[in-house]
Amino acid sequence: MKTVATIAPTEQETDLISYNPATGVEVGRVKKTTPDEVHAVVTRSREVFHRWKTTSFAERKRLVMLAREVILADIDGIAKLIAAESGKPFGEAIAMEIAPVLDLMQYFARNAEKMLRPAKIGIGLYALLGRTSKIVYHPVGVVGIIPAWNYPFSIPLGEAVMALMAGNTVVIKPSELTPMIGLKIGEIFSKAGFPADAVQIVSGAGETGAALVEAAPDKIMFTGSVATGKKIAAAAAKNLTPVVLELGGKDPMIVFEDANLELAAGAAVWGAFCNAGQSCSSVERLYVQESVAEELTRKIVEKTRELKQGSGEREDVSIGAMSSERQINIVEDHVNDFRDCGAKIEIGGARSPAFRRQNACEEPPEGGTQNLFYEPTVISGATNDMRPMQEETFGPTLPIATFKTEEEAIRLANDSEFGLTASVWTRDYTKGRRVAEQIEAGSVCINEVLYTHGIGQTPWGGFKNSGRGRTHGREGLMELVQPQHIHVNRIALLPDAWWMPYTPTAVETFRKLARTFASGSVIRTTALLPQLLLRIKELLRGPRR
Ligand code: NAD
Repeated sequence: MKTVATIAPTEQETDLISYNPATGVEVGRVKKTTPDEVHAVVTRSREVFHRWKTTSFAERKRLVMLAREVILADIDGIAKLIAAESGKPFGEAIAMEIAPVLDLMQYFARNAEKMLRPAKIGIGLYALLGRTSKIVYHPVGVVGIIPAWNYPFSIPLGEAVMALMAGNTVVIKPSELTPMIGLKIGEIFSKAGFPADAVQIVSGAGETGAALVEAAPDKIMFTGSVATGKKIAAAAAKNLTPVVLELGGKDPMIVFEDANLELAAGAAVWGAFCNAGQSCSSVERLYVQESVAEELTRKIVEKTRELKQGSGEREDVSIGAMSSERQINIVEDHVNDFRDCGAKIEIGGARSPAFRRQNACEEPPEGGTQNLFYEPTVISGATNDMRPMQEETFGPTLPIATFKTEEEAIRLANDSEFGLTASVWTRDYTKGRRVAEQIEAGSVCINEVLYTHGIGQTPWGGFKNSGRGRTHGREGLMELVQPQHIHVNRIALLPDAWWMPYTPTAVETFRKLARTFASGSVIRTTALLPQLLLRIKELLRGPRR
């Protein structure tokens, strides 16, 4: 591994260099893909698509299961790379990225065929006319995947597997902060024996992502910020390219006084600090019922105090470095704002002093990174009118606010432009479900937190500004296909009553159709039969001169 200081100036223009955020040491470098090259990549992908879409589900399954074997053979190596490039703890890379994506892979390898099997559609009274309908699913074509850096392995890999199982080919533009993991994903598919160019990786920052959108793939799966999501949606609209947007969150956790507080405290700590708080479904706001606020806060602070922070490559570390100077600046800004608004910093509230010098790199990357470790921070006395309770922080902070009643808890939780996930903590499951169904979020857990992105079987996506469309689950698979309706008239002997020429008899038939057939009732529709016969006779007789 080279250090930052060894980079020659000419290399910097064409190379994308990846740094370990904990140490500032270079993890690797890759040549940036030019916009022209991106267009060529999409063209090649489309050529391969026409062959790949004809492969059997059995063949696709065989290859995905082989890709699983490639990952299983190198779990530690991949986890080390994820830890080095993203800063997250080594163990978390296995638990939160590798294990869930392995599960997703086996699930879609084994079930995609069943989920995409042609299916009959009930068409009500049209069936009495001898008609049948079925739905057939076609792949969309080239799927462009543009992920964020925070789950750099599991998100793009999982989406690619779903796309491939549905018969699509894939182009991935990994985040500029995690390009080497992107290359690793390409290597996994290639080692598994996927056809050349079925999965291609293009490297670079926003401009490379923009070039991919401009190259007009047939679908774009984007994961990132609301601001970039809007840009991508606007650019994609020029080619009418459909887009799935997985965007930010400000996820609330509601703790009622009857909850198991010990468990809720542990969940809050993990939910807020996992991946140094850089999960889209991190707990970003905790609302606790007033009567237990003090006790819950004390338990959370105690648990936070036990956490070891350090380089993610160590196995005994719970909280690693943040991803970038830009991200840690937002955290500092939000914590300062909480302080200025009168909230109380219970623990943390600054960059970790222990790391300030020992991890400083010789010549810091752009932005002057010296220390990307931020202490896990618990804040009490937060209220919704404080700016950082509305904006996504995406860092290791846990602001705590209180509520008195169930209605107030729901109102506070919904008082946000975001709606990705939420959790409700109570021993009363009836209340839990009642509250959950009133929360405006794509996923709501009762007595659980954060982890459901890891259940590939369930749909993932947001309400409000947290996104459009879904990944994972049946709903996510449906984003990657286009449904085709096949309609058959099994007794094609007579003309349809609604065909031309229109006549007074026709118009009277249409009136009766509207009153009877369109009611969906067989009994009412029997009253239509005499008029229908008149009309059919008229059509068979042909035009009168
Ligand atoms: P970002 O929007 O800065 O970048 C995301 C990706 O878009 C990167 O690969 C980037 O290179 C690319 N990009 C940037 N500008 C582009 C453009 N004009 N055209 C095409 N591509 C472009 O986001 P980030 O900082 O990488 O990620 C953090 C955000 O992602 C947070 O808001 C987080 O909540 C969100 N996120 C959401 C989910 C989810 O499932 N909802 C999951 C993970 C992260």
